[in-house]
Amino acid sequence: MTGTQPESAPRALPGGRGDALLIVDVQCDFLPGGALAVPDGDAVVPALNRALARAQETGMPVYASRDWHPPNHCSFREQGGPWPSHCVAGSPGAQFAPGLRLTGDTHIVDKARSAEADAYSAFDGTGLAQTLEAEGVRRVVVGGLATDYCVLATVRDALREGFEVMVLTEAVRAVDVHPGDGEKALADMRAAGARLVPESDPVP
Ligand code: ZN
Repeated sequence: MTGTQPESAPRALPGGRGDALLIVDVQCDFLPGGALAVPDGDAVVPALNRALARAQETGMPVYASRDWHPPNHCSFREQGGPWPSHCVAGSPGAQFAPGLRLTGDTHIVDKARSAEADAYSAFDGTGLAQTLEAEGVRRVVVGGLATDYCVLATVRDALREGFEVMVLTEAVRAVDVHPGDGEKALADMRAAGARLVPESDPVP
């Protein structure tokens, strides 16, 4: 960053041809008070709403993934998994954050719907890569929860599938089971080829 951008420089919320906004798992159970709360998780909502407003202005398509588990999902502790029960399909905890301004034309991507397998990535078992390709998407702009799990897995898969990836740094938060997990995840994303962008950066 040179610091020489004029004040009127466009901000990092893109919306060019071939861009799509991909919002990962911004669901009630991952917000403070939820079954598997991400610390400060609700802080992603205003940042994502700015990105959503930009998407509406520019016609950028919006995809929003949901953890969408059966009640006996293998990731739940009662089944021997690592997590408390969360995001059971159709339950209040599985709903999108109430303040998130998704519009009716948002493409919803449900993942980890079978009891036997977990899926952190929005690309895992959802057909998302094919859908994006069919829509002419070349770059995904990613925000959501949590940095060190589903955002990381989604970004890695997006890169592996050949998409360019921008991660909106104001629009992600980490679980940080081990302190520093979130920072490490961001470093991993950058090393894998993602571009980490604060909103103060100019649009490429
Ligand atoms: Zn889950």
